[in-house]
Amino acid sequence: MNWMEKELERLSGQSLERFVHASEPARGFPGYLIRGDRRLLNLSSNDYLGLSGNREVVEAMRLALEREEAGSGASRLVTGSRQANERLEQALAAWQQSEAALVFANGYMANVGVISALAGRGDVIFSDRLNHASIVDGIRLSRAEHVRYRHNDPEHLNDLLQKHRHARRKWMITDSVFSMDGDKALLHELVELKKEHGALLMVDEAHSGGIYGHRGEGLANQLGLHKEVDVHMGTFSKAFGVYGAYVSGSSTLIRWLINKTRSLIYSTALPPAVIAGVEKALTIVQEEKWRRDKLAASIQVFRSALAEAGFTVGRSDSPIIPVIVGDNESALRFSSILEDFGILAAAIRPPTVPEGTARLRFSLSVAHAESELLHAADRIRQAGMYAGVLKE
Ligand code: PMP
Repeated sequence: MNWMEKELERLSGQSLERFVHASEPARGFPGYLIRGDRRLLNLSSNDYLGLSGNREVVEAMRLALEREEAGSGASRLVTGSRQANERLEQALAAWQQSEAALVFANGYMANVGVISALAGRGDVIFSDRLNHASIVDGIRLSRAEHVRYRHNDPEHLNDLLQKHRHARRKWMITDSVFSMDGDKALLHELVELKKEHGALLMVDEAHSGGIYGHRGEGLANQLGLHKEVDVHMGTFSKAFGVYGAYVSGSSTLIRWLINKTRSLIYSTALPPAVIAGVEKALTIVQEEKWRRDKLAASIQVFRSALAEAGFTVGRSDSPIIPVIVGDNESALRFSSILEDFGILAAAIRPPTVPEGTARLRFSLSVAHAESELLHAADRIRQAGMYAGVLKE
């Protein structure tokens, strides 16, 4: 195992070793967590709408546990599917105004399984350079040709589509909100290109589901482009606060996926309590628009405060706000000083982000009060100065 130790030493020497840390929810303090003996303001969670600790969601899960069993016992195709799964899928399809929907174990398994079930040898997949790792892994598994276009660069994509015009099938895949930069895909431009080149479009709404659209349907719906998206994917682990994922689209697409997606066919269905929690969360996501409105207001407040403090925060209005630091060591130092100040903001380093763009990734939740965010922004300014990433 010497080779492992050597590589781990190298990672450690370059401030790239990763660790897992136990974090518990801070009961009675939404938006905080407990690490060791300290309560920290949690600016690193994807629980954007604060539904993870929502009483109605938790209660729905508790009742399902009492009514049902702990596990589903088998895959969906064998005996793991309950009426509740079908009810949830019908509700998801209605929400997305699509013919059908299919629930998956999580977003990673959905992307890996769905992409490799749809594309194959002879196809070309055009993928934004900053797409999530689960999309990259799905493409690799598919054996289709993997062509990466420059981030949010439709001209580059157009050239590449032109170059590969003789492919059997052309697939364009994009995050709708990019997970480490928080900016949005240029969906209007992608839809134009898709039509022009006869390509198919898959959109991953992991970080935009629940956040955009009148009923939280996502970015494609907010832009009126949902009918142009051939494969629509989202997760239940972020704004929904629970776990799992879905794909929606035509009934032919869903029939194909039930027959061809290995991560669905060869894996146990989600536990009934998870399905019950997601069902409740879906109702809240659709009906409680105030959560989206409050989050949108928090995003503005926090972004302006960070910009005023001298950080470059870009223009996006998503709850993901990166502060790019550059080198790995500075990012770790910045994060560690902030932790001393009672704020948790994870340092994100390569290979999750490109070399030289290590950053702190702040993510907001409706659980945070405006006063907490303003106070945090001030502490972030101080920490930035101590860490040497912000000049006075
Ligand atoms: N897609 C994107 C864009 C993501 O950011 C993530 C989660 N980090 C996933 C997919 C995977 O989702 P899950 O956490 O449900 O596996």
